[in-house]
Amino acid sequence: MKTDVFITGGGIGGLTLALKLVKAGIDVVMVEKLPGKQPVYKGELLQPKSMQIFDGLQVFEEITSQGQIIEVLDLIELSKTLKVKDQSFMDYTVIPGKYNAAYMIHHEVLKGIIRTKAESYSNFHYFSGSSCKSIDGKVATVQKGKEQFDVEASFFIGAEGRASVTRQAMGIKVEPIKYNHHFITVTFPRPTNFVGGQIFSSYNRFLGLFPLPNDEVRSVYLIPAGDYKKIKEKSIDHFHKLYTELAPAIDGYVQKLVDWSKIQLMIPIMYHADTYVSGNMAIIGDAAHAVHPMAGEGMNMAIQDADILGELLVDMYKQQKLNLENLNQYEAVRKERADYLIQLSHLSALAYSFPFQPVSWLRSKTFERMEEDPVLHFKQMLNVSGLGMWKESVRDRFIQGGMMPTRKKELPKEQKEMKLFTAEDDYPWKWRGLR
Ligand SMILES: Cc1cc2nc3c(=O)[nH]c(=O)nc-3n(C[C@H](O)[C@H](O)[C@H](O)COP(=O)(O)OP(=O)(O)OC[C@H]3O[C@@H](n4cnc5c(N)ncnc54)[C@H](O)[C@@H]3O)c2cc1C
Repeated sequence: MKTDVFITGGGIGGLTLALKLVKAGIDVVMVEKLPGKQPVYKGELLQPKSMQIFDGLQVFEEITSQGQIIEVLDLIELSKTLKVKDQSFMDYTVIPGKYNAAYMIHHEVLKGIIRTKAESYSNFHYFSGSSCKSIDGKVATVQKGKEQFDVEASFFIGAEGRASVTRQAMGIKVEPIKYNHHFITVTFPRPTNFVGGQIFSSYNRFLGLFPLPNDEVRSVYLIPAGDYKKIKEKSIDHFHKLYTELAPAIDGYVQKLVDWSKIQLMIPIMYHADTYVSGNMAIIGDAAHAVHPMAGEGMNMAIQDADILGELLVDMYKQQKLNLENLNQYEAVRKERADYLIQLSHLSALAYSFPFQPVSWLRSKTFERMEEDPVLHFKQMLNVSGLGMWKESVRDRFIQGGMMPTRKKELPKEQKEMKLFTAEDDYPWKWRGLR
């Protein structure tokens, strides 16, 4: 079999890339090792930049109609006796323009929307239950049941997540960094009026609640690394109590989970590949980087990689400039952005990693100042949204640390707009040319 672009992995990143390519008439073969739906929870929070990308792919309306809008995240700091001590919020609506909200959507529903759209093009060839075993530069060898087949391609893209066969073929090693905590995560029913994201924390506990459509809520609860087995030995009532002590609003709802069967362990790790491109191969998403889930970026980084690499390949084919050196433009745009978000997520994780009262105090003061200072607030929301990157200055750090007063003046809309990535920032080769 012969194709233009061979993609290993039919996760969100691979599917987004495939859709971009097939829409432009490029022939794509995608292999996905799972025969059906992913049995585990994965990312569900779509940041504004991902929504902008999906708008360009004409799936925005379908996603919003099957997703739950999140405009505000409440950050609730509790006292030792679990009474509300401080409350601040992160508000996506400070971002100007159409894409000023996040959306929660079931991971498999989102995959279904993108895959169905891609399958409406006859140049998309999707093989489920098919695992890529090796890539030798011109040919990928695929195992489907007992059969093996080869696929010849001009480009090989690794979108196969953490255990990436393409990354291996490129000779790239990653060194995962582990954290002192894990999470348990599960979805259960919620009250209909529970529509904003809520993060509850005390000096030694953390619970994130993110509403999904159909009156469901996805939860993440922080536990010390290695404690999962011990916690699971306790009764399910113990689990209910862990949740309702922090978030009384879900009392009567979390109890719909009658045993531990749906409750999943989630182990955060962080790594970043030194390079994303080698010859005619490139990696996107979790194959290239893993990020702590605290800031809800992993799936979004995969989508954003797919957008930049996809646009680049489309232009290379359109202009018939298939020089492999052009692929480096993908890395040039994405690597610095990914690096920044990995660090941002890492810092957010550290804010919840140490079970001490002073850390809890410092965290709530930092969030309070971020909410009070319009520049800090906008920078935070812009950076997590993926729509732009505005790094924190020394002054910002002093304000956050309480060593300088917060600014009071709102940023004008025009100044905010200037901080959004332009098409030239995203796709610089359209201006500078391809080889
Ligand atoms: C429990 C959990 C919760 C998360 N929550 C969030 C969140 O709230 N927000 C967020 O942004 N991110 C979150 N993430 C991270 C997010 O899920 C990932 O960053 C995202 O799925 C990466 O997308 P991807 O397409 O790169 O890889 P994946 O989603 O991992 O997809 C890779 C695909 O490749 C397939 N594959 C692997 N090897 C092969 C092979 N050799 N041949 C063929 N197919 C192969 C796999 O079966 C899989 O379908 C979470 C992750 C987990 C595990």
